[in-house]
Formats: sequence, C-alpha cells, structure tokens
Amino acid sequence: MDRKYIFVTGGVVSSLGKGISTSSIGALLRGRGYRVTAVKIDPYVNVDAGTMRPYEHGEVFVTDDGAETDLDIGTYERFLDVDLARTNNVTTGQVYLSVIEKERRGAYLSQTVQVIPHITDEIKARIEKAGEEADAEITLVEVGGTVGDIESLPFLEAIRQFRFEVGRENTLYLHVTLVPFLGTSEEHKTKPTQHSVATLRSVGIQPDALVLRSHTPVPEEALRKIALFSNVDPGAVFNAYDADFVYAVPEMLEQQGMGRYVEKMLALEKVTPELRVWQEAVRVLRHPERRVRIAVVGKYVAMPDAYLSLMEALKHAGIANRAAVDIDWVNSEELDDAGLQALAGYDGILVPGGFGVRGIEGKVRAAQVAREERVPYLGICLGMQVAVIEYARSVAGLPGANSTEFDPYTPHPVVGLMPEQLEVEGLGGTMRLGSWPMELSPGSRLAALYAEQGVGSPVYERHRHRYEVNPEYVERLTAAGLQVAGVTPGMAGRGSGLVEAIELPDHPFFVGLQSHPEFRSRLMRPSPPFTGFIRAAVERAEARQGARPAAEAPSAPASADGTGEA
Ligand code: GLN
Repeated sequence: MDRKYIFVTGGVVSSLGKGISTSSIGALLRGRGYRVTAVKIDPYVNVDAGTMRPYEHGEVFVTDDGAETDLDIGTYERFLDVDLARTNNVTTGQVYLSVIEKERRGAYLSQTVQVIPHITDEIKARIEKAGEEADAEITLVEVGGTVGDIESLPFLEAIRQFRFEVGRENTLYLHVTLVPFLGTSEEHKTKPTQHSVATLRSVGIQPDALVLRSHTPVPEEALRKIALFSNVDPGAVFNAYDADFVYAVPEMLEQQGMGRYVEKMLALEKVTPELRVWQEAVRVLRHPERRVRIAVVGKYVAMPDAYLSLMEALKHAGIANRAAVDIDWVNSEELDDAGLQALAGYDGILVPGGFGVRGIEGKVRAAQVAREERVPYLGICLGMQVAVIEYARSVAGLPGANSTEFDPYTPHPVVGLMPEQLEVEGLGGTMRLGSWPMELSPGSRLAALYAEQGVGSPVYERHRHRYEVNPEYVERLTAAGLQVAGVTPGMAGRGSGLVEAIELPDHPFFVGLQSHPEFRSRLMRPSPPFTGFIRAAVERAEARQGARPAAEAPSAPASADGTGEA
C-alpha cells in the first residue's frame, strides 16, 4: 500500500489539544493494526526544544536517539505505543539550517534559493523521511501553531503540495478548531470555526474533516451549520468535547465514526479496532479501588505541562495498581519546617529532574524526610543526585557534600560534571542525551521490578543530564549503606561502573535513577520504577489508614499546578 498522510492543522486559538486529537486518531489506526508514525512541526526558529524553558513551553521530551523535542512527541509515543526519533520533530530552525548549509556547500548550484521551492521541498523531504524511517503505513503530521500565523505559512504550503504529489486517496486534511460556548446567549458559537476554515482555504487547503473542541457537546444543529459553511461533509465533523480523562478521547472519536471515516477517505480496509487498553484505563481512573497522595517536590508551580511525562508515568503506575494518584506540587523554595513535616504525611515523595541551584536545599531536605520517615521515595535524575548529597551529608559523614553544579567549592563533590562535559561550550544538544544501558545489581529492588515486566539487565532508559555521582566517592557511600543498584556497563572511552541508580536496602522504597524512566512509560507498559513506587505508596496508605475505601478518601486535586526548571 502507498504511504498515507493525515495532516492536522489548528485554528482559532493555540493550546487546543491538537496533540491529543492527533494522537487519538493515531490510537484508532494503531488499534486497527496499522504501522503509524507521527511528525510534529514546530514553526519556531529554535532548532529544537532543548534550549527552551519548560515552564513556558512545557516539558522537553527526550527520544531514544537523544533528540530534545516538543512534548507532543511524548504524547504520540504514549498513544501510538511507538518509539519516535529525531526526525519526528521538524522545526523552522532545522529546515533553514539544512537549506543554508546546502547552499553554502554549493548543493543548489547557481540557483536562487527561495522559500518556494527550496524550503518547502526540504519540509516535504523531512516528512517523507520520518515515514520511511518508521516504515509507517500512515504518517500523521501535526502543524503546530494556528492557521494565519506568519511562521507556519511555508509548512502549510508544503502540506498543500503533498496531495498533488501522492494523490487524493493518500492524503487527508483535518482541521481542529475551538467552538466556544457563550453563557449569555446560551449558545455554541460557530463563527470562529468558519473564519478559521476560510483562512485555511486562503492558503489553498480545504479541510476534509473538522475536529471541534468544546467544553460541552456541540448540538447537532450547530454541527450541521459548521459543516455547511465550512464546505465539509456533515459526516466528517467530529466533536472532541472536554473529557474527564484524555484516555477517553480515542473512544469518543471512534464512537462518532472517526475511524470508519479515515478508512473510507484513505481507501483502507474496514477493521474493527482493538481499543481495550483505553477503555480499561478509563474504567480504572473513573472507579479507582484506592487513592494515594504523592508530593512532587519541584521548583516551579505554574506550568502543568512542565512535567507531563512524569504525571503520565505516575498515572500509568496508578492504573497498574488500580489506584488514583493525587499529585500535590510542593515548591521546594518555600519548604519550611511545617512544609517538611507535612511531607511525612504523604504516601510517597518524588523529586523530579531539574537544573540550577534554586530550591535545591529544599529538595535535599525532602529526600531526608523520605529517608528518615520511611516515606516511599523516587528520585529522578536531579532527584537521585539530591538523595546522594543528603546521604553523604547525614549518613556518610561528609559535611558540606554537594554537587559542583550548586557549589563549585564544596569540600565533598559527591556529584560532579561528567568528564566529557568539561569541554562542552554550546548549550544546545550537548548533554548526555537519549537511551543508555544500565546494568542492574542482582538482588536489587530495581532488578526485581524490571524482571517482573520481563525486562532483563541491561535495561535502557533515556537520559538528559551533565552531572553524575562522582566515582571517587562511591566506596565511601556504599560503605555507609547506600546501595548502588545500577551502573553503566561501559561507555566509549570512559570505562564502566558509573552510578545509574541507588537504593536504600532497609527502607520501604527508596530509589533514585540518573535516567528519566518516565519518558518510556506507557499505559500498556508502565515504567517499573514508577510501578514499584506507587505500589509502595499504596502499601503505606493502607497501613496508615487501614484500607480506607476510595470513596471516603478526601478528594485531593488530581490536576497539577505544574513545576518547572531553570
Ligand atoms: N542538573 C542535573 C544534571 O545536569 C540533573 C539534570 C536532570 O535532572 N535532568 O546532571
């Protein structure tokens, strides 16, 4: 079969949840057995998301091959259950960089290099390449931003040309818009969608289908009106109204006939999709058997998307344990004695990844509370480093121990810059990035948790850091009781044995990892360290409260205020 393409554009406002719509369509196709990949186009001039602030743009997602991408790539991975790569995130920065490099090399001979055709050709080539590399039958392409933005014009022109090149039966244009509800007139307003479709048409794209985002279901009459004015088949107007859980969106679209519609338009065989994992997840989320309260001790509390993968990994682990996970975001900068005491009342404490010295002492003290009060602790990347610092100071007799990231003059640099980082000058793409193996120590808790899921050592997780546990201190730390649970099997020119994970053997659950296992967590395959953490949290909750039924539990807010990093 020819490779098929589904192009997703957005209108009216940004942050519509286009990524969820795109991913949900992907889930419907994966549920039909197709090989699917997804490309996110980000019209900004940055080459990648690695240099952008998570508390403005959301989390920086990391792929196996070490790309620092937009967080939508993570959503695609989780909904499509595929591993994506650098090629799946295309930015204006990358496109221009490569066109300009080619021009300097003389690759365009003596031509005048222009937006059309050179930039648009480069865009098309990148979309095709992503499909080829994944050997995908269907490639979803989401154009970031909103139609009408100046910076997205070359991308819209490129996707417009696609239909000419690969044929009508191999392309589908889908436009996602907002249908606001006006309380004063008690009406769903269709006009913004009409205008948005008109804008899209003005660059030569007539959408085949619409996905209308709304707070509540849009009435039939308004749907018909939109179809008529947008020149879209009424059967191709779908309504993604706010769902209680995003995992309910694939099923919502399927029930409205999205899957059948795509089959028809792309001349695919009719298949009954397998959507059980989504249905099951929604069922558990709606009727959890228990609840646990987890404190995530981070630095910023303003951007819910800054730790998207982390929240998803916690949710996956919750579902695996039939538990709802209520997350409280704790600002480590404001952690006073009362705050520290309150931490001891949680079922689990998680210190996520982060950069910079701000709020660091609060994180160290959070790790101390977890250790001393026997609260299940999961330390991710920086969260492992602060646990090591805390152990060095309080238990191993190394006062003033620190990471050189926070105190270059510390008497005990238990965490330091990796040797290959010493020469790094630029900031973009220069950390230790992507998937690296970790050898698990036999008998460790982590080895058992990975083995439960049939994953043997070495295990692969994704990294994004510059610092590591200083090998010169490992002996002193382990002599004081810290267990090294995972090491690097050997990196080119660096020998083996770098600390990848730590544990405290006589603690209900105290685990730190240098990697970010949240990036690989899936609904279908929850991350083992997260699953173990939530299981321990469930045990603590039940031990403390005597198996309190979920219905009686105080309903702590399930959504996060967000935190970020510097
Ligand atoms: N700042 C630390 C480092 O660079 C931790 C990074 C992280 O948590 N991702 O090593």
